[in-house]
Amino acid sequence: MALMGGLTIWVPGSALEAEQVFVCRVPTGPRSVCGARFTSQQALMRHLRNECVARHEQEIRTGSLEQRMPVFQSWDPEIDAHMKKVRDRMLEEGRWTVKPNERAGFS
Ligand SMILES: [Zn+2]
Repeated sequence: MALMGGLTIWVPGSALEAEQVFVCRVPTGPRSVCGARFTSQQALMRHLRNECVARHEQEIRTGSLEQRMPVFQSWDPEIDAHMKKVRDRMLEEGRWTVKPNERAGFS
């Protein structure tokens, strides 16, 4: 069955029904995905469980963090260390705001 412009067209034994393809979307780099194709969801799940996720664990973690929060792409380790100290001080003092002199870049 295919829906086109309000018309429902049924094509018996069509390619649409016969060739349902499941594509692996696990990131393998900053701009690439695995792309392996399977004819059943079970085969795709087996591929994910047995090899792909473990092999590309690092890319999955990096990719998802960068996509959700682009600020992490160019995170400065010095600023990171400074803000972690500020976080610990804030937890100790039980406050929720960063003082102006604690901001990264303040000099
Ligand atoms: Zn894969």
